[in-house]
Amino acid sequence: MAVRKFRRIMAANRGEIAIRIFRACTELGIGTVAIYSEQDRLSLHRYKADEAYLVGKGKGPIDAYLDFEEIVDLARRKEVDAIHPGYGFLSENPEFAEACERAGIAFIGPHARIMRELGDKVAGRKVAIEAGVPVVPGTEKPVQTEEEALLFAKKTGYPIIVKASAGGGGRGMRVARNREELIEGMRAAASEAQASFGNAAIFLERYIENPKHIEVQLLGDKHGNLVHLYERDCSIQRRHQKVIEVAPAITLSKKQRQQVCDYALAIGNAVGYVNAGTVEFLMDRDGKFYFIEVNPRIQVEHTVTELVTMRNLVQAQILVAAGHRLSDPEIGIRSQKDIELRGAAIQCRITTEDPANNFAPDFGTLKVYRSAAGLGVRLDAGSAYAGAEITPHYDSMLVKVSTFGRNLQQAARTMNRALQEFRIRGVKTNIGFLENVITHPDFLGGKYDTSFLETHPEVFK
Ligand code: ADP
Repeated sequence: MAVRKFRRIMAANRGEIAIRIFRACTELGIGTVAIYSEQDRLSLHRYKADEAYLVGKGKGPIDAYLDFEEIVDLARRKEVDAIHPGYGFLSENPEFAEACERAGIAFIGPHARIMRELGDKVAGRKVAIEAGVPVVPGTEKPVQTEEEALLFAKKTGYPIIVKASAGGGGRGMRVARNREELIEGMRAAASEAQASFGNAAIFLERYIENPKHIEVQLLGDKHGNLVHLYERDCSIQRRHQKVIEVAPAITLSKKQRQQVCDYALAIGNAVGYVNAGTVEFLMDRDGKFYFIEVNPRIQVEHTVTELVTMRNLVQAQILVAAGHRLSDPEIGIRSQKDIELRGAAIQCRITTEDPANNFAPDFGTLKVYRSAAGLGVRLDAGSAYAGAEITPHYDSMLVKVSTFGRNLQQAARTMNRALQEFRIRGVKTNIGFLENVITHPDFLGGKYDTSFLETHPEVFK
């Protein structure tokens, strides 16, 4: 297989991840093409690319980034060689990947076949079971009737979690501790799933009490080589959505780390995984891992893995999509042994949400915006500048702050200092809340699980 030379890459996305992609391209000497919606005409990602084109005229702010026929057609006319989908939007849509390939444009991500095998949670569970990886006890298929659900409850017992097969971002999930909650939870999860993902399919799993969320980063090339880049601990969550992520998971023993990375590789190898992807697990209080899902794309929290492995994941994605082998000098991973873990990294997502008001999104003009800098601080921001308008059109993430140190304590000290350096006026942010979490002794000691925020109400003050 010949290696393709990409001259121009389009980011089919917006905000910080589009800028992250452009940075990777520029470092590789590749030209960059942005798309932007009418609502995003003042967004920074538009100006960070060599060229930018308006898409979705007259469509909504989200729909503009979802019309893949228009996007692929534009890419073809502008002689784009490859499209990076980022996360969210079209990133897990196999039809988009196929449309790119049909147009002779490389899709920077796994093949549509792999997305179909893994993209949906029920399908992913099947792959895991066949690969001999433990999954949370659950239904093998989506459940349609109350009878099916009650039968599962009888077999497994409560608590149960109702999940959307197509779920993401913590949406379409309900915990049920009895029969009434199960029936109501199925209804609520299905309607939320229909509204959020256009797919009402739901399934059931046993609800693991107070687990840790541990996920493993995978990277594969098109020649059958697959490695892991160790794990992240994403247990600090609000409503099943990640808020703070750490790499590596400091409380894992060597054996546990090996175990969870081996499980992830087994799943990746079972489908011939190509490009970057993440295998997510829950770890119960006995230290046992259970597969929950695969995200066949780059993730928001990839920055912490980059910091502790000194590997540029987005560049690797591009190079692999062009046909490079992991062992080529451009990527430089001759074997798993070449991936080294150094130090610890933390990522905080600064959002324009008001912790005092149940994290309601806040809007308005950013009157003052001064960001942090200095040793050990990495910033990935979308449109964060004085004068920027924070609107309800998109999610409320303003900037990702990632810090790095010899160990978690040092990374946390740098994070605390960085968060204190920020000056943001005009909109409310969650900075005070983030400071409270990353200075908490339980956080610093790794003594936390997904229930941390529920069990530590003091961090909201
Ligand atoms: P999403 O795709 O919406 O992010 P996930 O399946 O990745 O959903 O789960 C997100 C979070 O929900 C997990 O990190 C965990 O906190 C919680 N969760 C999911 N499944 C279970 C389960 N079976 N038991 C306990 N918590 C769960």
